[in-house]
Amino acid sequence: MLGPLKNWWRKRIIARSPVSEVQWSRAFSALPLLDRLPDKDKQRLRDLAILFLHQKEFSGARGLTVSEDMTLLIALQACLPILNLGIEWYRNWVTIIVYPAGFAPERTVVDEYGLAHRVKQPLSGEAWLRGPVILSWEATENAGELDGSNVVIHEFVHKLDMLNGAANGFPPLHGEMDPARWSGVFTAAFDDFQQKMQRGIRTGIDSYAASSPAEFIAVLSEVFFEKPEIILHQYPEVYEKLKTFFLQDPLAGKYPEKP
Ligand SMILES: [Zn+2]
Repeated sequence: MLGPLKNWWRKRIIARSPVSEVQWSRAFSALPLLDRLPDKDKQRLRDLAILFLHQKEFSGARGLTVSEDMTLLIALQACLPILNLGIEWYRNWVTIIVYPAGFAPERTVVDEYGLAHRVKQPLSGEAWLRGPVILSWEATENAGELDGSNVVIHEFVHKLDMLNGAANGFPPLHGEMDPARWSGVFTAAFDDFQQKMQRGIRTGIDSYAASSPAEFIAVLSEVFFEKPEIILHQYPEVYEKLKTFFLQDPLAGKYPEKP
């Protein structure tokens, strides 16, 4: 429960937001991802996004100017996974760095023979433990289309996963959730997905999900919010777990269709 003071403070931040109704409706209409939300949830999401914008700092890299409209698009999508969890789930970090297009950090990667290589790989987003979230605007600009992929949801789900240490597909669960059951469901689905990828079976889920348990939950969360029927159809138990974790059912009120 929120203390009365904290609650009052939040209401004050929301009431004093400089963002106009016109700007909000422009942002909502650019995000088909949010169309399914009833008006009262859109209102709550907007309030949460105001708190998010108040707490976070945006920084443009390589000369990119991050406009207010860009921050609204990022904030609304970032807040969708925490709509029923609360802004506290994005605690302990502040910065969102936005690059104009894919950024290519140079990294040392150790191969299966123990040799270290310097590699440059273009990325669309990245989340650092207790550090910033990094997004490529090129990948973010159209993230809210309902195509099953969403770099903003992906990186911010990594942040939720990192609340209890390095990203490993195991975010802090709610009290009534059974950790062993969570691990069992996700491990079985991950193994099945890896096998399907090896056999070239298409699932409607990006093969990048097979890279690690952390990427598996991040990619499946993108699909959960954008094309939920795919998760319900492919991995119904994962659907149940994500629904219980996010306290949201993207298919509520809809008849589940086959993908
Ligand atoms: Zn990732």
